[in-house]
Amino acid sequence: MSFSQLGLSEALLKAVAEQGYTEPTPIQQRAIPIILQGKDVLAGAQTGTGKTASFTLPLLQLLSDSDVIHQKPRRVRALILTPTRELAMQVHENVSIYGKHLPLHTEVVVGGASIKMQTRNLKHGCDIVVATPGRLIDHVQQKNVSLAHIDILVLDEADRMLDMGFLPSIRQIMAYLPKQRQNLLFSATVSNGIKTLAAQLLNKPVEIEV
Ligand code: AMP
Repeated sequence: MSFSQLGLSEALLKAVAEQGYTEPTPIQQRAIPIILQGKDVLAGAQTGTGKTASFTLPLLQLLSDSDVIHQKPRRVRALILTPTRELAMQVHENVSIYGKHLPLHTEVVVGGASIKMQTRNLKHGCDIVVATPGRLIDHVQQKNVSLAHIDILVLDEADRMLDMGFLPSIRQIMAYLPKQRQNLLFSATVSNGIKTLAAQLLNKPVEIEV
């Protein structure tokens, strides 16, 4: 199977080719078409499987297809939550690489970095936020960012988020989001805790295990 069979746009196919990827990994083959259809996904995929591109590529496409892309100021339409700063930085790098031919703007919001700079960037407007839960909540409470227009929510490495005690923070963030949205939950392991979270968060998810 090739990337062009997955329904991705030219801008994304070009970025993927520039990365030297010749064919999609199994998680990408299965997740990308389903996400492009707007469905919720519960994916069991470890690091190294190509999981980041499997949600980033369709997310970028859905946002760039939407007719609100030219609205100014930009509203945050996609939120990617990660358990750690390091993972947020990695995901951001992936979003930048795959989205380099698209007019989308992404900000990273993590603890341990300058609040002032993040505040300025958020107020300037962006389409995608990659965040760790605690710092994101600070910014929402200070009204530096609104999550009222999120179309797509991604929880990356959700099992690690639960292990790190982020469940209350995740619940708090859910309350800031609109009810109508697409949810993607990625986790290395699909434990009972993850299943419970999925049942609360996802709407008729397609389950993918690689
Ligand atoms: P991840 O599982 O998202 O941490 O990705 C693991 C590594 O695989 C990253 O370095 C990606 O750049 C790389 N990668 C992702 N998709 C592909 C692909 N289709 N072909 C080759 N490498 C890939």
